[in-house]
Amino acid sequence: MARTPLVAGNWKMNFDHLEATYFVQKLAWLLRDAHFDHKRCQVALLPAFTALRSVQVLVEADNLPISYGAQSVSVTSQGAFTGDVSADMLAQLGCRYVIVGHSERRKYHPEDDANIVDQVRAVLAAGMKPILCVGESYEERRQGIELEFAVSQVNDVTRDLSQEDMENLIVAYEPVWAIGTGMVATPETAQEAAQAIRAHIGRQFGKKSGEAVKILYGGSVTSKNASQMIQEHDVDGFLVGGASLDVQEFARIVRLAA
Ligand code: PGA
Repeated sequence: MARTPLVAGNWKMNFDHLEATYFVQKLAWLLRDAHFDHKRCQVALLPAFTALRSVQVLVEADNLPISYGAQSVSVTSQGAFTGDVSADMLAQLGCRYVIVGHSERRKYHPEDDANIVDQVRAVLAAGMKPILCVGESYEERRQGIELEFAVSQVNDVTRDLSQEDMENLIVAYEPVWAIGTGMVATPETAQEAAQAIRAHIGRQFGKKSGEAVKILYGGSVTSKNASQMIQEHDVDGFLVGGASLDVQEFARIVRLAA
């Protein structure tokens, strides 16, 4: 089954709404100049909450081939939760994706397995696609349990999902040791993990679902390592952090994946 690649830029806590506006305009020009065919690769930007509305206005005004989404979400739908943003609020802004379970959220915020499952549910219920981040730390890799670890993180979420939910879930394999370190996984390592995750989903939901699920790689992706990585059978695109802050570099990665 042919899976359309997805390249998503995780801006983390960078870019205010003016910088985001500049970036989106520039990216649109670069993709247009390169005769980019959006049917060959989906492109997404994941800005801070404060920039979402600006991105929405630009994308809608020019009907740009760029989707966008958020980096986390509240598990509750409304009420007295100071500082939280609900899935419905994001959906109303035209968000298509929400990152769930990024290792930085797992580390700096009280986002445990139960909370991550609830976030996935909230995103799905609002009609968006969760990008579920999983991946081992250096310690688990040293112990040789990296595949089991990543698969068990996926299973913590998927064991409670319906077949229909599964159609909207995207998984990003992001080994923690590779995030922001410049130590990118080898294509073989990324492939091995993506294959293990796909096989697990195939066992849980049937072969068709396993083959359909999009699995991204994330962790120090650049235009230098993306071209080899995207050749791997089970790697369907990238979640790009640092390199997504440079619009030329991000556009290069998108073109390599297309
Ligand atoms: P990085 O971040 O590309 O800077 O390693 C990836 C991520 O955290 O999603």
